[in-house]
Amino acid sequence: MKIKLKYKLTLIYSFLILILILIIIFSSNQVFMSNFDDYVKHKQTEEIQNIIDQVSILFYDNKAPNYEDLYEIGIDALDKGLIITVYIDLDTQLICMSDDLSSESKEMLEHMEDTSKSSHHNSSGNYEENTYEIRKNNIYYGYITIGYYGPIYYNEFDISFFETFKTSIYKIGLIFFILSSIAVYFFASKLSNPIYRISKIATDIGNGKYNKNFELNSSITEIQDLINSISTLANNLEAQRQEKKQLSINYTHELRTPLTCVLTTIEGMQDGVFNITQERLDSLYSEILNISKMIENVDKLIETSNSKIFLNKKIFDLTNLINICIDNFESQFKSKNITLYFQNTSKEIHMINADEEKIKSVLVNLISNALKYTNNDGNVTISTEKSSDFITIKVKDTGIGIDEKDQKLIFNELYRGEKSRVKKVDGFGIGLSICKNIVLLHNGKIDVNSQLGKGSEFIVLLPLESQTTFL
Ligand code: ADP
Repeated sequence: MKIKLKYKLTLIYSFLILILILIIIFSSNQVFMSNFDDYVKHKQTEEIQNIIDQVSILFYDNKAPNYEDLYEIGIDALDKGLIITVYIDLDTQLICMSDDLSSESKEMLEHMEDTSKSSHHNSSGNYEENTYEIRKNNIYYGYITIGYYGPIYYNEFDISFFETFKTSIYKIGLIFFILSSIAVYFFASKLSNPIYRISKIATDIGNGKYNKNFELNSSITEIQDLINSISTLANNLEAQRQEKKQLSINYTHELRTPLTCVLTTIEGMQDGVFNITQERLDSLYSEILNISKMIENVDKLIETSNSKIFLNKKIFDLTNLINICIDNFESQFKSKNITLYFQNTSKEIHMINADEEKIKSVLVNLISNALKYTNNDGNVTISTEKSSDFITIKVKDTGIGIDEKDQKLIFNELYRGEKSRVKKVDGFGIGLSICKNIVLLHNGKIDVNSQLGKGSEFIVLLPLESQTTFL
């Protein structure tokens, strides 16, 4: 059964409070009862002693006390729950209160018995009797038996006092339970309200409303952390949306410029404004080639940015693949008089388990960049190095270098660095994004070290075991 957090918390805590209150009531009852019993017992002992003293005085004064005086003491004792019988010498009975009572007093005795039975003691209702000798200066006068309904006799005042205590403690317990349940509900609401609001915001984010106002604060660290995380998530998603929007604007712009150029040239030719010359046809061809290259690159980018893409992994010789790439670029490097070196530090064949086609794309992009951004007569060095966990591929050039502020951005789509430096060089700003995506798909890492005017070094780390990941 689904239940709201605030109700669940209130129920749980109220239940715990209820148990606590019952434990407190029960234990305070027990403590009170035992102390109350001690008090009543002590009072009863004092009263018994008092009766013995009163009866003794009658004996000392008169030798044989008269019935009326004893009856008065007997009635007085009865009030305190004590039933006396007095004997002179060894067995001459002077008075026996249980026999000599009027019908009214007999009712009182029955009431005493009932009261005693309803008391909390297990042995309640048992009639107990003790005998006390009456002596003075070693002279024996007689004896008195004092009986009561035990083990402890509670008079009406004692019982009402005890009942009042019990009802008060239950009332206090009930009031405390109600107040604490209200307080728990209040705190549970305070705790659950921000969570409820966060969940609403999360739902809105799920529905694409990223730019929601986050005016939510909590004094609870964990909830504040949650609010911050959701807020960061929303901001990141909004930033991504803006970035995507900007990218599509950029792509459209990148495509529109050459397309407009092709279109106006063809229209000019159709209208007879431009002559159809070989030169114009070559220029049109090159523009269309550029557009198709860009579309091809965008295709690759879209393909590699899908993290669920299927990698056609197999074990292949990386050294051999690098050599093939070098051969393919040989003539272009020669035409710029750039020397291309390949250093295999460990001088061994590097067999790796990866998608050969995609790793080739990475190598081609990095080598072609090194070629594009290195002036004539420079050097480009490719090197590989193997450690126990990964293989490192480095492509280093003595080219124009990359400004420090651009070094982190060049892996972003369509980012081409400072225009004044790269405008003479053909490109779309997509190659390195493709490289980064491919390397990440292989759980690897790509980085750049560069110094403006001195050259750049691109470093690719590929894990040898597919489980190893670079963070
Ligand atoms: P493109 O080369 O088509 O512009 P890339 O994504 O391959 O796109 O590179 C992005 C940017 O990184 C380039 O525009 C350039 O500014 C910079 N860059 C890449 N490689 C090098 C390099 N070897 N030397 C200097 N700058 C480079």
